[in-house]
Amino acid sequence: MLAGPMNGAAEPTGDVSQVYPCRNADASARTYTVEPRDLLRAMRDAEAHGDDIIGVWHSHTHTDPYPSPTDVRQAVDPMWVYVIVSLRDDAPMLRAYRIRDGVIAECSVVIDG
Ligand SMILES: [Zn+2]
Repeated sequence: MLAGPMNGAAEPTGDVSQVYPCRNADASARTYTVEPRDLLRAMRDAEAHGDDIIGVWHSHTHTDPYPSPTDVRQAVDPMWVYVIVSLRDDAPMLRAYRIRDGVIAECSVVIDG
């Protein structure tokens, strides 16, 4: 899970202040469901720091870093940023998306620090 600050309109600013590795409750290489206890722990920690959960990241081990039909179906929060890392090639490829009403829009990513 990804945590970050919200703006005055209760939307994520887009900054990611903290990342929380979580277990995959599906125990699958093909699908994922964030382990509920890990999600709760991430939400509580983010809240304790004045932030919110603003997105989630997962990997595609053999395919492009682009949302699969399952990813789109599971993308329930229109405010969230969905980060996908592809491990298909030697160098990991990272992309981020907003998914709203089934419409996929890529976000630019700036990595600093
Ligand atoms: Zn996926």
